This record gives sequence, C-alpha cells and structure tokens, in this order.
Amino acid sequence: MDFRDKTLTCRDCSKPFTWTAGEQHFFREKELINIPARCPHCRSARKAKLGLPDRAQTEVTCAKCSQQTSVPFVPRNGNPVYCSPCLTSIRAAEAANASVAIAAP
Ligand SMILES: [Zn+2]
Ligand SMILES: [Zn+2]
Repeated sequence: MDFRDKTLTCRDCSKPFTWTAGEQHFFREKELINIPARCPHCRSARKAKLGLPDRAQTEVTCAKCSQQTSVPFVPRNGNPVYCSPCLTSIRAAEAANASVAIAAP
C-alpha cells in the first residue's frame, strides 16, 4: 500500500495540517476509522486538557516533618501521608529493615 501526505483541515483552529504517509500507514495498521480531525498542536493541547483531572493534587501535611505538601491521591482517614523526601527516607529505612530481617537467622 502506497501512502502520500494529505492535507487536512483542523477542526479546532481551522488551519491546514499534514497527515503524513507514516501516520496513514499506522492508521491503516491499527484499523482506525476516524481520520484525524485536529492538527498535532490542537491534539496535544486537547490531550493535556483532558489529562488534567488525573493529576488532581490533594494538599496535605507531612506526618513526619509537618511540611505542607501535595499528593496525587486522596488520603484515607487515619493514614499518615508524607512529603516525598520523607517518603524516600522511610522507604529506604524499610528496605534496610527488610534486608536485615532476611539476613537474620
Ligand atoms: Zn489545530
Ligand atoms: Zn516530610
């Protein structure tokens, strides 16, 4: 199958953009039906917009150093939440304890 670059018009900004032969080949391989409606710029802008709720951050206070920090999840009641430096040191300590436990007779 021979593909050639096509010029499509973006639905969002109404600017022409190139649908490259390579993309068309990929498209055919994946058996996709909808041809791209947006230029690469608008597509990535849209993706970034859609991706925002996933990156919702919750403001919390670190249970170890009492610093304000934000975590990418909603902490459950009663569970201590740590800032990333504290979490790293806690994990390191746990790993050290684990290896000591394994090494013990
Ligand atoms: Zn566009
Ligand atoms: Zn901390």
